Amino acid sequence: MRVLVTGGAGYIGSAVVQQLVAGGDEVVVFDDLSQGHRAAVHPQATLVVAGLDDRAAIDRAMAEHRPEGILHFASHTLVGESMEHPFRHLGNNVRNGLNLLESAVEHGVRRFILSSTANLFGLPDRDPIDEDTSISPGSPYGESKFILERMLHWMDDRFGMRYAALRYFNACGALSPELGEDHDPETHLIPIILQVALGQRERVTIFGEDYETPDGTCIRDYIHVEDLADAHIRALRALDQGSRTYNLGIGHGFSVRQVIEAARDVTGHPIPAVAGPRRPGDPARLIAASDRIQRELGWEPKWTDLHAIIESAWAWHRTHPRGYDDRASAPAS
Ligand code: UDP
Repeated sequence: MRVLVTGGAGYIGSAVVQQLVAGGDEVVVFDDLSQGHRAAVHPQATLVVAGLDDRAAIDRAMAEHRPEGILHFASHTLVGESMEHPFRHLGNNVRNGLNLLESAVEHGVRRFILSSTANLFGLPDRDPIDEDTSISPGSPYGESKFILERMLHWMDDRFGMRYAALRYFNACGALSPELGEDHDPETHLIPIILQVALGQRERVTIFGEDYETPDGTCIRDYIHVEDLADAHIRALRALDQGSRTYNLGIGHGFSVRQVIEAARDVTGHPIPAVAGPRRPGDPARLIAASDRIQRELGWEPKWTDLHAIIESAWAWHRTHPRGYDDRASAPAS
């Protein structure tokens, strides 16, 4: 299939591109490189450097490459930032998504995969969280993704656009030691912990130790990027049988303390940790019920062992301590 991947130079997008190319698909990456990295784009993919605020550039890419499907990753993704700058998310994510959707419809594209989020559920009333859990986004970021899901519903209803909305829980790990997570600024737990192990930070701050969980710290469902990529590919192949929405996680959670402890084992570094205040909006537990995608598409997470997950992330961070910018100087180990 010919596919257009927005945000294909980013963490999750680049992993999905890797798997698409490996499966024989023709991939065009559409990315403004504001957060993504040129070096993360698969050499067999065509890279179009442009933003989704540029409708003419989207139209040109559609006309030139005639994609049969779109995978849409490009987005502002930080929950905390969205609380401080709601227009960046409610504005840009929605406006850019609308540009992409309008152009897709005009150019006859009828397959669409949206990266959505567990933040749709805010402080959820179910545990684990299945697709029928009530939606109450926890931030402007989550709201922007929900608006896109609703737009897709109407694109299907009006134009026969077949879509899959994939709601990720906590994406983690590295697809290979050459393809990993590189955000600036970094806000996610596992990379921050590994930056401590690399000596780039003195300590990790635990955001709250007074939650109603066994060790008092928040529990999250960490899903490996390889399993996420597999879910995207299965969803893409299944679209002709109809639109669908899936929650994606391993169905099991780890606490912040457990993640730090596992990283100490994997890296051999003491990783000092200090208690800090709660981060606003953080629920105590977020665990996915992914039965629907398991039942309908035969998807099953392979990465369920926390040590193995952290080892895969560590293999990337250890060899790329400054992310994609330091390939030449990375140690050979
Ligand atoms: N967290 C933490 N210290 C940090 C970063 C994150 O204690 O420096 C916690 C955070 O409160 C949450 C979990 O780690 O409970 C995962 O956070 P992350 O930002 O990685 O992902 P999110 O759950 O926000 O998608």
